[in-house]
Amino acid sequence: MAEERRDQRDAREASQEVGEPWGRSARPEEAEAWESLVATARRTVAEGLVVGTSGNVSVRVGETVLVTPSGVPYDRLSAEDVTGVDLDGRRVLGALTPTSELPMHLAIYRATDAGAVVHTHAVHATAVSTLVPELPLIHYMAAAMGGTVRVAPYATYGTEELAENMLRALTERTACLLRNHGTIAYGSTLDQAYDRTAQLEWMCRVWLTASSVPGLAPTLLSEGQVAEVGERLRGYGQQG
Ligand code: 13P
Ligand code: ZN
Repeated sequence: MAEERRDQRDAREASQEVGEPWGRSARPEEAEAWESLVATARRTVAEGLVVGTSGNVSVRVGETVLVTPSGVPYDRLSAEDVTGVDLDGRRVLGALTPTSELPMHLAIYRATDAGAVVHTHAVHATAVSTLVPELPLIHYMAAAMGGTVRVAPYATYGTEELAENMLRALTERTACLLRNHGTIAYGSTLDQAYDRTAQLEWMCRVWLTASSVPGLAPTLLSEGQVAEVGERLRGYGQQG
């Protein structure tokens, strides 16, 4: 087994272009974070938030950002595939090409105190992104994202333009929709970024369901009602 791993590594090293950085090896806390990142990426597929290699996940460990590699099915990722960049996007760990959405992930880490970012192509959220400029306040869980969730204007995937549009839509929010594309959410941990994504997808589903009853329109909450929940959520669940 160890033999086989070494062979794989030798083959990978041999395939590196001359001058391409191989990077250093992962520190224990990075190896641990990588395991959680892969588990979160697999969860996005298992729970139906993405299909195939759509979407991407990242987690920050100090000045290093671990990211899913581009176009690699998450069930094929192993401990050896740790992929990491610095905050300027320079590769510091691994030989695989980082996610094409590096500009969005890095823009969030540079502008906020995020510890993790999750991007998906969740069905209901993507559908809503094509219909409205922001998700109507259908449920108080909008407070978990900081208020009304906006839709960032469309730009080609993987571009700085998309990252700029996204950052504007994220002003005072921890999640937004990307027009004709999907969701992006951040949090202090992978679990928090994932939960916000799942809540956002669920809210989009509720709004689409309620809006599709002929002759009826859903009641909506006011910004004040959602802000009040924002305060209350700070004390939600088990404290301490
Ligand atoms: P990557 O496989 O490069 O992460 O791209 C998936 C995606 O969702 C692009 O928007
Ligand atoms: Zn995408």
